[in-house]
Amino acid sequence: MKRIERIALENQRKVLEAFWAERWSEADMSGSTGYGLDDAGRDKLERVFARVFGAERALVRPQIVSGTHAIRLALFGVLRPGDEVVFATGKPYDTLEAVVGMRDAPGSLAEWGIRHDVVPLTPDGRIDADTVLERLTERTRVVFFQRSRGYAARPAFGVEELGKVFRSLRARRDDIIILVDNCYGEFTETMEPTAVGADLVMGSLIKNPGGGLAPTGGYVIGRARLVEQAAAQWSAPGIGAEVGPTLGMTRPLAQGLFLAPHVVGQALKVSVLAAYVFERLGLRVSPRWDDPRADLILAVSFSSPRELLAFCQAVQASAPVDAHVTPHAAPMAGYEDDVVMAAGTFIQGGSLELTADAPLRPPYTGYFQGGLTYEHGCLTIARVAEAILRSREEGRWSHGPLSATMEA
Ligand SMILES: *Cc1c(COP(=O)(O)O)cnc(C)c1O
Repeated sequence: MKRIERIALENQRKVLEAFWAERWSEADMSGSTGYGLDDAGRDKLERVFARVFGAERALVRPQIVSGTHAIRLALFGVLRPGDEVVFATGKPYDTLEAVVGMRDAPGSLAEWGIRHDVVPLTPDGRIDADTVLERLTERTRVVFFQRSRGYAARPAFGVEELGKVFRSLRARRDDIIILVDNCYGEFTETMEPTAVGADLVMGSLIKNPGGGLAPTGGYVIGRARLVEQAAAQWSAPGIGAEVGPTLGMTRPLAQGLFLAPHVVGQALKVSVLAAYVFERLGLRVSPRWDDPRADLILAVSFSSPRELLAFCQAVQASAPVDAHVTPHAAPMAGYEDDVVMAAGTFIQGGSLELTADAPLRPPYTGYFQGGLTYEHGCLTIARVAEAILRSREEGRWSHGPLSATMEA
């Protein structure tokens, strides 16, 4: 917990200094409409983000609707027909399968003649740097890394560890563009991947860097020329980042960034406490309570779909919004399996808020993340523990089919 507080303090200092350096002021938050030409506050906030990330340039917009959208802008921005992209941290996040064309989807990279190659992680969950180097061809333009675990049985990668792999890549090929899916990683450490050689990082403002206040938005941050290429995809070639009305959202985006180091710290504390308590209940968790964190996600393995569902439902029942509704597994856009989501959040899909979700497939792993306040985390963890114990007792006495129990 002391370590988390030190990281939050360091990040708070960085964010504050970026606001000072850009002389942030009230007038910057008045916003624009229509084309959004000459929105000085929007441009200034992007410079604040760039400073915080130690990067040349940032595209930070409410019109980037999700992390997937931000990542798509970067991929389509820098790749050209005939190029190849190598995924260095195994299969990318579920929603990217369609973007890349691993799954048939209109408009995918594959349709544009851009091929991909996936290098699995080593059996102990590390980046297989040697194989990544072997797989580079003269057509490889992008090597893609995912910092957080996503919905996969793998660890999150620390920025230092990523930096080591970036350096070996650069030593082999200095023309490679390094992209990092930074979702859930922001402010969990004192450095972002841009500080150790990533060319572009992408993420969502309804996760870490929005501080729980940003109502929507995403970012692409990194080298100026590459951010411009992503901006051309975002609006239109020749127009790029020059347009984009902020519609009164500059204030929550700026205030959200200001709060983000602290709120991410709160969410990390929730993750540590949850890991400790759930492990005491005999559940397998990753990371463990005393492991260092590089993202917000805690993977919790359950022995049955019943326990997994009870877990998600208890998280929902502890939420400030929609606590009275019971989540069930259902199909969801962008995901292949049915997903159960406990998301009683103020911002729809906002997963810096305390949430739990799980694709309903074996092994029955639930993903628990976020928490705007540590206190809310404590109360939720207590209720979840009760629900799991109760579901075990019911499981022992119930001889009915599982589906009947799940209906009930
Ligand atoms: C959430 C997430 C995404 C996609 O973000 P959306 O905002 O849901 O589109 C991509 N990668 C990782 C690792 C994520 O956690």
